[in-house]
Amino acid sequence: MIPAAFDYIRAHSPDEAFSHLQQHGGDARVLAGGQSLIPAMRFRLARPAVLVDINGLADLGRLELGRTALAIGAIARDSAIERAPWIGETRWSLLHDVSRVVADPVVRQMGTVVGSLCHNDPSGDWTAVALAARAAVVVRGRQGTRTVPIDDFLVDSFTTAVGEGEMALAVHFPVPGDRTAGSYQKVERKVGDFATAAAAVQVTLDGKGAIKEAGIALSAAGPCAVRVTEAEQALVGQKPTADVIRAAADAASKRSEPQADLRGSVEYKKNLAGVLVARGLRQALARLGVQA
Ligand SMILES: Cc1cc2nc3c(=O)[nH]c(=O)nc-3n(C[C@H](O)[C@H](O)[C@H](O)COP(=O)(O)OP(=O)(O)OC[C@H]3O[C@@H](n4cnc5c(N)ncnc54)[C@H](O)[C@@H]3O)c2cc1C
Repeated sequence: MIPAAFDYIRAHSPDEAFSHLQQHGGDARVLAGGQSLIPAMRFRLARPAVLVDINGLADLGRLELGRTALAIGAIARDSAIERAPWIGETRWSLLHDVSRVVADPVVRQMGTVVGSLCHNDPSGDWTAVALAARAAVVVRGRQGTRTVPIDDFLVDSFTTAVGEGEMALAVHFPVPGDRTAGSYQKVERKVGDFATAAAAVQVTLDGKGAIKEAGIALSAAGPCAVRVTEAEQALVGQKPTADVIRAAADAASKRSEPQADLRGSVEYKKNLAGVLVARGLRQALARLGVQA
């Protein structure tokens, strides 16, 4: 199918993009990589009257690694993360892993991290990663810009804290501390498929080898990606042992609320969520030189 008719506006500055979005409100949609929006328009699942294309806004394509945060601009592609010079550092291993399994290499050339968060697909990869890493999204609204913690940003399936006439400018990932590692575990039927189940894991160890901080989140486990607070609580303050990992995995299985579909039954996906959390924890710890 071809999309319903729409007006196309190529913005030349963030101000111009914002002003068009304000003018057209709910009739307008931001066009970032177009990897989700264009297919949705072709299937007439989305029928925006106006597309505001932000791809010409070079400033929004930057990856800026500061002292406390990595800022990923609104048109920075998935492939830019994959090629970033620091991506091989242990502390960035969660981003390293996810940047290689989102969709396929062709989609990653166009798809954006921020676009993926704004799309908020229940089976998206970046949403779970952003939860585990405690990211925050910078949103431009009528009152100026505000920074929204990812837990508040992800409202429901395909719904975020970006309101009508607003746009997301960037996502900020806190720079992980020393002795931090992560892992993204995704089971997919074939390369380029959405997750059957996926788990994002990030842990920081203290000087005595106990878990100081933990981020655990699931994708394809409910209406949108979910933080497994119970798993995080089972980990923090503990020495990483097989029992502690099992407790976190069990909490993840319990928390997972997947839907049965061609990828598997509810029981299978719930079990898989726990298996992937355990596997992710073991891999993250191994990256820190700890066998558990
Ligand atoms: C074949 C295929 C396989 C895929 N597999 C996966 C997969 O395995 N895992 C996965 O996570 N994703 C997958 N995707 C989706 C892909 O990652 C998309 O690129 C991503 O979800 C959306 O990013 P985008 O930049 O293309 O956004 P777009 O398609 O341009 O936009 C998506 C939505 O977000 C809104 N939006 C985008 N940017 C902004 C902004 N700055 N401010 C406000 N609103 C904004 C748009 O208006 C639109 O509603 C797949 C896509 C394809 C085509």
